[in-house]
Amino acid sequence: SKRIRLDRYLSVQLGINKKDVRLLLAQQRVLVNGEIANDIQLVIDDFTHVTCDDQVLQNKLPCYVMMNKPVGVVSATKDDQHKTVIDLLDRADKHDLHIVGRLDLNSSGLLLLTNDGRWSRTLMSPEHKVPKLYRVTLENPISEDYIATFAEGMYFPFEDITTRPAGLKIISDHVAEVSLVEGRYHQIKRMFGRFRNPVIGLHRVSIGGLALDEGLVPGESRDLSEDELQLIN
Ligand code: URA
Repeated sequence: SKRIRLDRYLSVQLGINKKDVRLLLAQQRVLVNGEIANDIQLVIDDFTHVTCDDQVLQNKLPCYVMMNKPVGVVSATKDDQHKTVIDLLDRADKHDLHIVGRLDLNSSGLLLLTNDGRWSRTLMSPEHKVPKLYRVTLENPISEDYIATFAEGMYFPFEDITTRPAGLKIISDHVAEVSLVEGRYHQIKRMFGRFRNPVIGLHRVSIGGLALDEGLVPGESRDLSEDELQLIN
């Protein structure tokens, strides 16, 4: 059965932040299996009985899933033409999950799914500056002058926005690592498009401190561990 830390559980169930969770515990308002809880790191599962101010909290645990998204599968819950990432999941609660930051049809790599809306909003909001790292393969050679252009930000007239500073590291002639804190429509393809350099491969490597588990073959997924969860919030 799933296991999760008490502070995360309370934060999700009560819709409060971690600081307020600590306050609740300090005020001795939370009981776990009948005893006053004072350890935020306490691990609970589906069978743990938790109350706050004598109200029983529902024991539906939030879930956090990582998938190695394959090329050719849509990051959506429904699609008429293509298989979706939800179709690839084999779990009873899959229709409760939403996607945290889509990847294009032809992109691959780390995709997160959850039923915790607060968590996904934080991860994806540009204000929280969680870096998303992509390995990009280009049709033409990359040159040093791309770096400053990515760092400055690029004006997208259609949306009338300027992209946030993006990191670009040249790995080899045709491969770069790009780091973004936001996810505009086809952002990376459009940024390289300014240099008339088509993207031929795009793979998300990490989100914040959380890296894709290389043991997952494309299409495979698994729950995040509590340690992994700590890496990204
Ligand atoms: N930028 C893109 O162009 N596509 C993605 O899938 C992600 C970032």
